[in-house]
Amino acid sequence: MRALRWHGKGELRLDDVREPAPPAPGQAVLEVSFCGICGTDLHEVADGPNLIRAGAHPLTGVTPPITLGHEMSGTVTALGSPSPGVEVGTRVAVDPCLRCGVCRWCLHGEYHICAKGGSVGLAADGGFASHVSVPVEGLVPIPDGVTDRMAALAEPLAVGLHAVRRAGVQPGDNVLLLGAGPIGVAALLSAKLAGAAAIYVSEPVAARARTASGLGATEVYDPARSDVRREVFLRTGRIGPDVVVEATGRPELVELAITTARRGGRVVLCGISGASATVPITQIVPFERTILGSLGYNHDIPRVLDLMATGRLDPAPLLTGVRPLSAGQDAFAELAADRGSHLKILLEPGRS
Ligand SMILES: [Zn+2]
Ligand SMILES: [Zn+2]
Repeated sequence: MRALRWHGKGELRLDDVREPAPPAPGQAVLEVSFCGICGTDLHEVADGPNLIRAGAHPLTGVTPPITLGHEMSGTVTALGSPSPGVEVGTRVAVDPCLRCGVCRWCLHGEYHICAKGGSVGLAADGGFASHVSVPVEGLVPIPDGVTDRMAALAEPLAVGLHAVRRAGVQPGDNVLLLGAGPIGVAALLSAKLAGAAAIYVSEPVAARARTASGLGATEVYDPARSDVRREVFLRTGRIGPDVVVEATGRPELVELAITTARRGGRVVLCGISGASATVPITQIVPFERTILGSLGYNHDIPRVLDLMATGRLDPAPLLTGVRPLSAGQDAFAELAADRGSHLKILLEPGRS
């Protein structure tokens, strides 16, 4: 089969590889329907390895080259162990978290922060191929009425939902989102569902700002032109937002997030970068601000699929393109060159 593999920084190749072997106990093989290109994948190609290990991954032992892709939907073709509600032929989305199952965090249900954890598509071969092997505990049956195409968007939406759940957004809260990329938009949709009274968004890219407005943001600010902190302060009765979600990983925005949250407010950081942020301690302690990290999802993908099935969450605005796997390298280049016009591109291995 053909697979889009990461060989090293700047080296993304469409290779001929063997199909996955019949699954070992605990594993399942899927025929991939759709798999989304994530900002993480773009970073691995632009300046990796970041999350990919240059040597053997401590949990999987896998070394590059590695098939990318962790945002997938497909149909189960073989099962190495039983999985509730799943048979051969079941349509599934995948929670791609790889977990050891025996560390302190796995034993407490926090598999997403497993001490040895990794992800399908970064620590093991992923979904940019016709078939993929995944752990059975990651299989999430797709409800009737949700298409495979929409189900492939469940993973990025779950990142936003998890951030909003971590922040404890309550009905009537005022929320500020920094960044309206795929995760920021996912957080916007989830904050609406959580009952936020107002959702303010800071986003410099015009096309993304328009998307955020169209999805119900109360106000969208261009940080190059507006003093976001002051604008939101004034619009919240000189109180400040209850919750700030930082979805970019830019250090200056981490500082902005912390200094903008109201006294006693919550800041949730879900953007990752290797950079360090400088924040005055006097902006945290005297104001009793709570700062939280949010990584991926923890049983959030089934929630997202249920929200899609009941019509509460429409994933369509996230999707801006679908390409055959053979056009994968071009799609990566297009996303890297133009952040404005795309949110999410799905690759479709079954289409030539
Ligand atoms: Zn992702
Ligand atoms: Zn673990």
